[in-house]
Amino acid sequence: MNAPNISKRMLGLKSETAFAVGVEAMAVEKQTGKKVIKFQIGQPDFRTPDNICYKAIQAIIDGKHGYTPSPGIPELREAVAKYYTRTRGVNVDWSDVAIANGGKEFIGYTIAAVTDPGQGHEVIYPNPGYPIYEAEAIWRGAKPVPLSIREKNNFNFDIDELGRTINDKTRLLILNSPQNPTGGVLSREELEAIAKIVLKYPNLWVLSDEIYSQLVYDKKFESIASVPGMQERTVIMDGVSKTYAMTGWRIGFAANKALVKHFGTQITVNTGCAGHIDQWAAVEALNGSQEVPERMAKVFRERRDIIVALLNDIPGVTCKTPGGAFYAYPNITEACKLVGARNSDDFRKRLLYEALVCVTADIHFGPQVVGDGEHIRFSYASSIEDIREGMKRMKEWIISHDAI
Ligand code: PLP
Repeated sequence: MNAPNISKRMLGLKSETAFAVGVEAMAVEKQTGKKVIKFQIGQPDFRTPDNICYKAIQAIIDGKHGYTPSPGIPELREAVAKYYTRTRGVNVDWSDVAIANGGKEFIGYTIAAVTDPGQGHEVIYPNPGYPIYEAEAIWRGAKPVPLSIREKNNFNFDIDELGRTINDKTRLLILNSPQNPTGGVLSREELEAIAKIVLKYPNLWVLSDEIYSQLVYDKKFESIASVPGMQERTVIMDGVSKTYAMTGWRIGFAANKALVKHFGTQITVNTGCAGHIDQWAAVEALNGSQEVPERMAKVFRERRDIIVALLNDIPGVTCKTPGGAFYAYPNITEACKLVGARNSDDFRKRLLYEALVCVTADIHFGPQVVGDGEHIRFSYASSIEDIREGMKRMKEWIISHDAI
């Protein structure tokens, strides 16, 4: 090949390695001619509710297909402001809201808006965590600082450790509750304790990734923005992907009074605006009937209870009950010993090739936390039949080794 060099920056860009797992599962299906039970995908298996689809069709017919203002159509910004106000108990003005092609875009936009490259500005994010936090921090020239989330802390970080990690160079703390990959949910008390530390640092922002906010099962969802003094420095990020089964529509939103204008500029530079038709669909999602999304959330909760019970019935596996999202994150340290797997990724590969069950491993979400054992992640955004069949395959596979 004669192509000129690719930049070091490009070659160093990290990504979501979990995507490769799906490709592997497809290859195994092709090779064996058998169905793999898939638990690797972080997206609802439901169809987008009909009322939302009809609204999108109507938008096309009405000719709503030109560019929109960069921060979004006022109708959607208003709908988001009302949604934030009713679900977080904070007053959000529509002009503080920006709309982008998925909540994901706001991770990079926020980092770019609050850090400068070459200054040693630090971004703290949860580990294990959504891999885009680290990827974006490096891409934007900030220093990524992972903060360990531990099973013994109910999949939250240690508040004292947070206190020791934040310093004068820290510009951004990324929170994610409910959390991917563990399903951990931050309690009001934990949020207050975090806020107490954050408020000591005048140059510290918080990006609160609340993309799973409507999938909290045992208590009320709480946002750090509602802790006194925090709203001004918090970017409240959410979207329609997970709550309304709209991952492919690509609509996410963020609210912060001081940053909205800078989000708008970045949207102008990057994409111009989010999809016009999709924005109208999102207006219907937020303002229309909530019956279907509420039903979907109930189904996720039922599946959670089933998968957690079945996982805890498998030799060598223990699984804490996740408080939110649609992920179960069992500890498989003992199961690794039973099947002779070197680590979680070896276990994951063998589970795929030998038992035809596809999951992601802890290492897909950052470096393993020392002393926390081996974990794999199940996305239970799949049918109850598939959950039962997958758990049966995994149990039989482990037991077949146990007997040796
Ligand atoms: N944040 C977290 C923690 C996620 O798990 C995901 C998607 O998997 C996103 C953000 C991205 O959401 P969106 O589809 O709105 O870009």
